Amino acid sequence: MTRRVFPYVPFTIEQDETATPTYEAECISGDVIECGEDSGPHHDPEPVEEWMRKHTQDTGHARYLRIFSDCAVIQPPAERGELLRVNKATA
Ligand SMILES: [Zn+2]
Repeated sequence: MTRRVFPYVPFTIEQDETATPTYEAECISGDVIECGEDSGPHHDPEPVEEWMRKHTQDTGHARYLRIFSDCAVIQPPAERGELLRVNKATA
């Protein structure tokens, strides 16, 4: 078996500014069966927190799974020269 060595390439991972993040919460209160009610997805955390406060006030439930998602983009090194330099250094 031949061993392949992959050079380290300094890609950066950034949040995609063109896509709005999503916030959501699900009630996981309950001993055997979890409540399961959820806030639904929102593009801002405030309506999710408000839903949590109201749900706690109405039910006494106090445990939530918070879900955050966004789009990420992997950016190659700033310049091709940088990539070549890195490959040469690890060869
Ligand atoms: Zn609940």
